[in-house]
Amino acid sequence: MSIDIIARPSPNHDSRGDRAIDMIVMHYTGMKTAAEAIDRLCDPAARVSAHYVLDEDGTLYQLVPEALRAWHAGVSHWAGESGLNACSIGIEIVNPGHEFGYRDFPEAQIARLEELARLIMARHNIPARRIVGHSDIAPARKTDPGEKFPWARLARSGIGIWPDSTFAGQPDRPENLLARIGYGVPPQVDVPLETVITAFQRRFRPARLDGVWDAECGRLAASLAAQIT
Ligand SMILES: [Zn+2]
Repeated sequence: MSIDIIARPSPNHDSRGDRAIDMIVMHYTGMKTAAEAIDRLCDPAARVSAHYVLDEDGTLYQLVPEALRAWHAGVSHWAGESGLNACSIGIEIVNPGHEFGYRDFPEAQIARLEELARLIMARHNIPARRIVGHSDIAPARKTDPGEKFPWARLARSGIGIWPDSTFAGQPDRPENLLARIGYGVPPQVDVPLETVITAFQRRFRPARLDGVWDAECGRLAASLAAQIT
């Protein structure tokens, strides 16, 4: 199986070293148009890039070959590891984002994303628990792909994990549950716990993004942690 991809090579990449690919990071572009975003991701002065840019109508662009390290994650942490550009594929999904009019992701875009993510996961044997959003791995700096991103739908296709809202497990401290899911938590990272909780909510319980850990957060997080360990 293959899908149509338009080449738009970016000079912004380097070597992965000897680190294997085992993660996908989802982003939104956060710019007014796809063209503006692609120009920036190909501008040597900007020093940012991603492997793929996916437009709202499903048009897919490749900027960096998967074998090379693209520069999309920045300072980042997941599952005890930092500097996640080395091990990840970065997908920039076109959306104006919170700054320029955050809107729903169209069906054509998400259908194409499912195809692309499935191919990447199969190619590199990437487990569902290592499909993350930029805000999961850099919660103090980033809110993309944001609370409108259809994580629940993607998880039904095996792309990312999703909690079972009826799960009844042992309650635990938020730091412990978040760390088991993969989040960097204080004191391992210099980020307030409330900020990490907000990132967790944005991904798994988007109805309320207040950074307050309540019983529902605890239940959902315990369900996710149980899927991982
Ligand atoms: Zn991002």
